[in-house]
Amino acid sequence: MVNYFREHYQTDTKIFIEIGSHCRECEFKVDNPSAEEKSGFHECWTSQLQLPVSEINQPKAYDVWYNPARSALEKGKFFMHELSENDLNIRPEAGKISRSERQWLQIEKTKNNNQSPHFDLDNLREELESWQFPLNFIDFETTAVAIPFMAGMHPYEQLAFQFSHHIVFEDGRVEHYNEYLNTEIGVFPNFDFIRALKDSLTINEGSIFRYHNHENTIVNVIYDQLRNSEESDKQELLDFIETISHNTGRNTKTWCGERDMIDLQKTVVNYYYDPITNGSNSIKAILPAVLQSSDYLQEKFQQQLASLNLTSKNFEASHVFLKMENGIPISPYKALPPIFEGWDNEKLEQVADSLSEIKDGGAALFAYGKLQFPEVKQEEREAIRNGLLRYCELDTLAMVMIYEYFREVCK
Ligand code: SF4
Repeated sequence: MVNYFREHYQTDTKIFIEIGSHCRECEFKVDNPSAEEKSGFHECWTSQLQLPVSEINQPKAYDVWYNPARSALEKGKFFMHELSENDLNIRPEAGKISRSERQWLQIEKTKNNNQSPHFDLDNLREELESWQFPLNFIDFETTAVAIPFMAGMHPYEQLAFQFSHHIVFEDGRVEHYNEYLNTEIGVFPNFDFIRALKDSLTINEGSIFRYHNHENTIVNVIYDQLRNSEESDKQELLDFIETISHNTGRNTKTWCGERDMIDLQKTVVNYYYDPITNGSNSIKAILPAVLQSSDYLQEKFQQQLASLNLTSKNFEASHVFLKMENGIPISPYKALPPIFEGWDNEKLEQVADSLSEIKDGGAALFAYGKLQFPEVKQEEREAIRNGLLRYCELDTLAMVMIYEYFREVCK
């Protein structure tokens, strides 16, 4: 292999690699290549397909959610518009939009340039009716590093250092009820974190929402850590975890709590598809889509916080969550000052995404790491903490916005 590389390097000969599904993660890609900013991706694709850049930029077959058309791609169907129903094995499922139906929706809407969202309204309505008020929306920020910050921890052992908690009442009132942030140097935060979460969530008996699996995974990790600990209230905390979660494979004990957290992402996936998301269901893709489609959210969140039926712990009364530019909503995250001087939050998320499997929350992860260093001055420490608090509050508010969108659509 070394000889192979040496020869190509010596003779300055490009190594030929056939294009395919792997190009989805190409690290040599810019959207619009120019003389100043070259794109290896476009070099491969234009030369192998003999097509101009404009055609290469069309949606690809591998962009379909869960990439169901791998074999079509191997047969030379590289673009979404080339796919037909025969390339998918479309199987309906009762009570929701099935995975294959959703994939076909994405292809069909892309082919027809149809930008309208799709709902399975009857089943969405039924789902919403099964939820118990007041509704609790929570989001965690966690980190897992190779070289642990604290003695006695394993490499990549999870630390849960932040959460935010919004409550939606039946009359529509929204409260940013609680938050927790522990960035103290060398302090293992997980047990205090779960104590604070317990105090926060036992304030009512309503449904609890997470976005995707992370929150359930983390409370399972803390469950394990607690079991091996000497904490005086450990049984109380273990019981609490069992009420709000279900066990993951790693736990030998089986449970499924009466308030097992509801995955809001599952609600999205089962009953809603919006072409603006390009098939992604991450909260950062879903939020702009619902803001774009919802007159209700646009009207509400273009007002100042003081005029909304909403409380906040980190935003001023004059804060406006949603601004529009040429009729397009600007992400509320963009209105936040950067957590790190000189790094815009979105760039930081991209860097975090490219470095790890962790999507969403990359900025928080960097921030926690930085705050473990005593060299960081008090002033900067405060600025980073404030940034983290605003960021996490917005994460749970984004969940509230998605819920409100569904509520209005169901009306
Ligand atoms: S486009 Fe990127 S991933 Fe695909 S073959 Fe070229 S360099 Fe490799």
